[in-house]
Amino acid sequence: MKRLAILGSTGSIGTQALDVIENHQDKFSIELLTAYSNVDKLVLQAKKFLPDTVIIVNKDHYNLLKNRLSGLPVKVYAGIEAVEQVIAMKGIDMVVAAMVGFSGLLPVIKAIEAGKDIALANKETLVVAGRIINELVLKHGVQVIPVDSEHSAILQCLAGESGNTVEKITLTASGGPFRNYSFRELKNVKPEQALKHPNWDMGNKITVDSASLMNKGLEVIEAKWFFDLEPEQIEVIIHPQSIIHSFVHFADGSIKAQLAMPDMRLPIIYALGYPDRIATELPRFDFKENNKLTFEKVDTKKFRNLALAYEALEKEGNLPCAMNAANEVAVEAFLNHEIGFLQMTELIEAIMDKTMFIQKPEIKDLEETNRISRLAAREYVEKQM
Ligand code: NDP
Ligand code: MG
Repeated sequence: MKRLAILGSTGSIGTQALDVIENHQDKFSIELLTAYSNVDKLVLQAKKFLPDTVIIVNKDHYNLLKNRLSGLPVKVYAGIEAVEQVIAMKGIDMVVAAMVGFSGLLPVIKAIEAGKDIALANKETLVVAGRIINELVLKHGVQVIPVDSEHSAILQCLAGESGNTVEKITLTASGGPFRNYSFRELKNVKPEQALKHPNWDMGNKITVDSASLMNKGLEVIEAKWFFDLEPEQIEVIIHPQSIIHSFVHFADGSIKAQLAMPDMRLPIIYALGYPDRIATELPRFDFKENNKLTFEKVDTKKFRNLALAYEALEKEGNLPCAMNAANEVAVEAFLNHEIGFLQMTELIEAIMDKTMFIQKPEIKDLEETNRISRLAAREYVEKQM
């Protein structure tokens, strides 16, 4: 029995994790569920899975949650400090990190320091602090397993290949809803259009990131830290059907790929069971029904976020952290109709340009970079309005 904590259980990944776990209660038990403010969903989940503890990060909702769970054998706490304390406790083997944005970083660090394995959906954690996370992983002897479908694909392609040289990897990208839009058309796209992803149903932030290709930029950086690659070993290609989840190219010229229907429950259960495969009833891919798998080059002149992410990766230091912070503010402002789609990229570039560069940032430097970059990004938004 693997005892799990799910951080961000009410989100897209959290909900899908609970969905696969429900069918495998002989293998997994739920010990901790956390949400930011969605009391209704957290209450439903708590009643169904009876975890040891639930935590609502936004303290304003504590009393409501406590009342709604009274009489149940479930401990109720509030605040991010409670999350950091509870995940370090005995009785948890693996933490599913499925909250969104920079907020994921400190809880993941606490969990690693307490010796827990991590199923990592929160890619921002590695983008912001990949070097530090990898050092902590070595020091504490834990495993961090990717949930992101591309990185899960690469991990699956690398199974049995230890010692063999990887020439490069190719991350696939669907291209999002605006793949065929011209630069001029991108100027006027609305949040409602960006939120309609062709292949995946995800939380709002990552859906906008997918439309702007910042998601792929974040994944390029994520791949560097997961698989110890140089920037020039990480390539991106558009694959609109999202069936091939990524490729690994080996030194002998062989290429391996991992294929499946686009359904996040598969990489989630692979991470939970790693290195074993757990049987599922998930939809199967049929070559006879889907006989067209196509590929296109990415236009980084149109989708400049991807070029910015490569720049942040090259320079490293605290630049990916600044880029990520600016992007979080930009996405929020775009969703609130405060700035346009292309202005997100302008904002991110402006914040990266004025970042005070730190080559080897510590956690406190990253917290400060995050804080200052967010403030500067917010100022930028106000000026546009
Ligand atoms: P959602 O927005 O759907 O869910 C986010 C979860 O985190 C919710 O449970 C939310 O609680 C909680 N949360 C939000 N803000 C905070 C905060 N400040 N502190 C603590 N908890 C918070 O996101 P997704 O599930 O789509 O994505 C989660 C992560 O997984 C992201 O990093 C994303 O990039 C990554 N990912 C997602 C994929 C997907 O298919 N969705 C695919 C690959 C990676 P509440 O509901 O109360 O707001
Ligand atoms: Mg992905």
